[in-house]
Amino acid sequence: MANFEIVTREDFSDVTYLLEIRHPMMARAAKPGQFVIVMLNEQGERIPLTIADFDCDKGTITLVIQAVGKTTRQMQQACQVGTSLYGVVGPMGIPSPIGNAKKVMCVGGGLGVAPIFPQARAFKQAGAYVIGVVGFRSKELVFWEEKFRAVATS
Ligand SMILES: Cc1cc2nc3c(=O)[nH]c(=O)nc-3n(C[C@H](O)[C@H](O)[C@H](O)COP(=O)(O)OP(=O)(O)OC[C@H]3O[C@@H](n4cnc5c(N)ncnc54)[C@H](O)[C@@H]3O)c2cc1C
Repeated sequence: MANFEIVTREDFSDVTYLLEIRHPMMARAAKPGQFVIVMLNEQGERIPLTIADFDCDKGTITLVIQAVGKTTRQMQQACQVGTSLYGVVGPMGIPSPIGNAKKVMCVGGGLGVAPIFPQARAFKQAGAYVIGVVGFRSKELVFWEEKFRAVATS
């Protein structure tokens, strides 16, 4: 079994956390809008999580997770830098069509801000003027403001 090592962990709030995972093949294959199936351990449930970012140079994919139930809470406890996930399968799902639109608005709220980042970046790389509209319940819950500013006008 491959070693899906966690290289970065960031906590955005009491229930929302980011995991950056070493997986060079996945990082090369991933496209905006796709997801992976994750298993925390051998007995673990398989859960779908969106690829919120991928970096071919670093060979990593990034997941942003909300702890809502059994597995996502277990992962919140167990997934620390240096530990590994048992399984990460994908990329799955039909990639978001990027095309050659001239002006695009990307809208997301809360945890849903993370999955639209790769799309906003891909639109920008394709030459579109990208407007980002992202919302959070409170200032404390805001994350990835700088990442969005780098690819979109807000
Ligand atoms: C394509 C796709 C992409 C996704 N991407 C992401 C992502 O990027 N990040 C993310 O955080 N999530 C994402 N999700 C959602 C994520 O898969 C789920 O939150 C996760 O599977 C929940 O697993 P769990 O074991 O933690 O929760 P579970 O224990 O399965 O609980 C899930 C919810 O159901 C409730 N529940 C559980 N059992 C019962 C019951 N018996 N009666 C009533 N309610 C119950 C729980 O309270 C909880 O709110 C995605 C889902 C899909 C389909």
